[in-house]
Amino acid sequence: MKKEENKKDFTTKRLKTLRKKDLSVQGLLDGLLKGDKSALGQAITLIESTKVSHLKKSEELITRCLRYAGNSVRIGITGVPGVGKSTFIESFGSHLTKLGKKVAVLAVDPSSSFTKGSILGDKTRMESLAKNASAFIRPSPASDSLGGVTRKTRETIILCEAAGYETILIETVGVGQSETVVHSMVDFFLLLKLAGAGDELQGIKRGIMEMADAIVINKADGNNLKNVKLAQTEFSRALHLYPPKPNGWAPQVLSCSALENKGIEAIWNMILEFVKTTQQNSYFEKNRSEQNKNWFLQTVEQLLKQQFYQDSDTKQLLKKLLPEVELNKISPFAAANKLINARK
Ligand code: GDP
Repeated sequence: MKKEENKKDFTTKRLKTLRKKDLSVQGLLDGLLKGDKSALGQAITLIESTKVSHLKKSEELITRCLRYAGNSVRIGITGVPGVGKSTFIESFGSHLTKLGKKVAVLAVDPSSSFTKGSILGDKTRMESLAKNASAFIRPSPASDSLGGVTRKTRETIILCEAAGYETILIETVGVGQSETVVHSMVDFFLLLKLAGAGDELQGIKRGIMEMADAIVINKADGNNLKNVKLAQTEFSRALHLYPPKPNGWAPQVLSCSALENKGIEAIWNMILEFVKTTQQNSYFEKNRSEQNKNWFLQTVEQLLKQQFYQDSDTKQLLKKLLPEVELNKISPFAAANKLINARK
């Protein structure tokens, strides 16, 4: 409950700041293009706002940012709680900033839609990266639906790119559909794993193995090294059983110690190799266009659905038909047809 209230206070505070400051699209755009972090923060708050007066502005801002966006590598990172995601992002992100890169860390956290408090992409989880001038960390937006979180995150990517962030890390804990959603907005998808006791493949969702461009076994340190080697072999073997991916990339299995900053450079080099391969075979651009098209079509579906259910005649007829379906007076299909056709 306390967490819920805190988050609410935080959002209200952000909106208040937004109201006080210059909210013109031009002002925000100028700030963004200069790489001003506070302008970026305000721009994200604007697109996260559900106020009707903010919607038009945020749409204009995103449209104007598009020509400055796209110049980045978008990396999805997933793994169960405790696998070391935040420790990894802290280490990986710091490595990148040392190479002179600007890193943005975003999160897609479906639980935030229920608790209004996010457990991911939290600044307190990545203390040193949060203080780094070249890094920008934003917790998962709160929304009533995963669709809402998705849309806001996708638009946030565009804002971050316009602000000059050339590496975007998107973290998710992989509850429900969130892995698929993150996969649909990134170039490279990384699955963090732990070495178990020889039963690595148990409990791992098939879909997620197929989505992964790399599996990285974390906590490769201390007494764990032998287990990590075994896990690496097992995952490599399992990956070989999958058909080749359309991106022409053979998924790799690496290991690292996020805690001791070991193996981090090799992971970045692998991602660079991936980018090179997929740019050469044109998959990189093709995939992004495909993602945009899907994003557009999904939004059309969502909006149609929203409009449909908001209609008062539809609401009434739905209320009448539901008990009839329940009592088997009409078939579900006939009832659906009746409902849809009533609007024509
Ligand atoms: P998350 O829930 O996936 O974000 O996991 P955290 O990054 O919070 O890490 C969970 C725990 O594992 C913490 O106690 C970390 O210190 C520890 N941890 C993370 N990475 C490593 C690692 O590479 N080696 C070891 N030994 N511990 C690690």
